[in-house]
Amino acid sequence: MLSGSSWLTVMIYMIIVGCILTVIDLPFSFYSGYVLEHRFGLSRQSFGGWTKDQLKALAVAGPLSIAVIEVLYLLLRFDSSLWWVYASIIFIAFVVVMANLAPVLLLPLFFKFKPVENPDLQNRLNRLARRTGKHVCGIFEWSLGEKTRKANAAVVGWGNTRRILVSDTLLENFSEEEIEVVMAHELCHHVKNHIWYGIALQSILTFIAFYVAYRLLPPLSRSFGSSGVDDVANFPLLALVMTTLSLLALPIVNFFSRQLETAADLYALEVTGDALAFVSSMDKLADINLVNKNPNKIIEFIFHGHPSVEERIKLAADRVGQNV
Ligand SMILES: [Zn+2]
Repeated sequence: MLSGSSWLTVMIYMIIVGCILTVIDLPFSFYSGYVLEHRFGLSRQSFGGWTKDQLKALAVAGPLSIAVIEVLYLLLRFDSSLWWVYASIIFIAFVVVMANLAPVLLLPLFFKFKPVENPDLQNRLNRLARRTGKHVCGIFEWSLGEKTRKANAAVVGWGNTRRILVSDTLLENFSEEEIEVVMAHELCHHVKNHIWYGIALQSILTFIAFYVAYRLLPPLSRSFGSSGVDDVANFPLLALVMTTLSLLALPIVNFFSRQLETAADLYALEVTGDALAFVSSMDKLADINLVNKNPNKIIEFIFHGHPSVEERIKLAADRVGQNV
């Protein structure tokens, strides 16, 4: 008898599961991503524009997810005792590649980019990048404004592809000093290798999660009547185990992230020496993006990857106090 599921069975199964999950999720993502965003005056997108973005995201995420699951079941068929080791290594490699490529390849599918026109700001940010010792290949205006009122900025890519992205909404509302302090924070994540720390933590958690799945999958599969661990019918069990573990890991990941964010804030204050611009940029970001400046401590501990705006402003005030 043939054991396990062929790649074709896995693909058909995943297409059906994917369709069901997409239909279930649709009302929730419509409410949170369209209705709420319009109710609070954040989104500027038409219903057609929103639908187009959803379809584009599905066209990218769908085939990619199926490919990832195909590889996983290939490993389950290949070696039922060491699949979790191979799966962890491949998954981590995938995360490293995507962290580098996604902002460069995927963001342009959803947004337009053009070099920042203001020469003074170009010079200011280029000088800042040189001071931090990080080469950037360009400073680009990110067309968020046609979709949302929210402001954002990022430093994406690595090595020769590293670039600074400043949203048009940030350019409209922030002074050059404020933009510089925001970019100093973003550059710090590259200067201090925060991206690699993040990947290291992700790697440890990935090994733990796949190991737990390796231990739990055989008894769970048996009790639900699957023909073996490589039977794709047990995919919901595998997904349940992985989702539960990632929810349990959420406070750890966010605690770690908040430490790095505080380090980046301190770095931005140090490199620019401009606590006033830091505080006003924090206030503006919170106002434009409708961020709760002082969230519930338990909610913050579990769900927030950044310290509260109030804490970040207090950090700047403390630094000024120390330097007086
Ligand atoms: Zn940050």
